[in-house]
Amino acid sequence: MIKVITSIARIGLLAALLAGCSLPLVSEREIALQADEQFAKMREETLVSNDIGIRRYVICVADAIIATLEPPYSELDWDVEIFDDEAINAFAMPGGKIGVFTGILAVTENQDQLGAVIGHEVAHVTLQHSVERANRTLTTQVGAAAAGAALGGGAAGDLVNIGAQLGILLPYGRGQESEADVIGLAYMADAGFDPRQSVQLWKNMAEKNKGAPPEFLSTHPSSNTRIEDLVAQLPTSLVRYNSAKTAGRDPRCSR
Ligand SMILES: [Zn+2]
Repeated sequence: MIKVITSIARIGLLAALLAGCSLPLVSEREIALQADEQFAKMREETLVSNDIGIRRYVICVADAIIATLEPPYSELDWDVEIFDDEAINAFAMPGGKIGVFTGILAVTENQDQLGAVIGHEVAHVTLQHSVERANRTLTTQVGAAAAGAALGGGAAGDLVNIGAQLGILLPYGRGQESEADVIGLAYMADAGFDPRQSVQLWKNMAEKNKGAPPEFLSTHPSSNTRIEDLVAQLPTSLVRYNSAKTAGRDPRCSR
């Protein structure tokens, strides 16, 4: 019994140390390094689109979104790749990597809807959702497991590595999705993309979802609530959109 209490106390102590530590276990930079490797690997293993029209179109939309960012994210060397794959998916990773699958271009009807997708993904990066998720998981799961072993030698380094990988692999939580929706909407509006199109995008997604669920949806739960939340944000984002237009931000991205 005492032994059990002792190990629970040790786990508790470690978890408290991990949670209370002002420095996160895994930093954004460490996840970015892993993301860099992962992105390079994807480029080698997945067919990239050589369609110049599509490449120019996606990069045009991504550049307009990136142009709305503030430091340190505006200073990243953003890298955009288009993967020739039917998956209805897109992602952005710490360090400034954006991946768009050609499958999502079949669901996004215009530059504004693609702007909504990329704005949402970029928001996950600037809100540091991967870092948040990796550190939370490390603290609760890996932290507890590691409590059994003495944290000596390379153990800390191993944790950082596991955490950095988790940062890329873990799906986002529902709360993070809502946050990314709100900030993503601001990015698209600031870039001069019509925020009303975000509502249409999610309707298109829901329509696609009637058959096999698209991948973008499986990690990005869509619901009427989500659409209602976006509609509620529209008055604010329309003000931003109109300011962007007045300031001359008027992207003309086409295939
Ligand atoms: Zn998301």
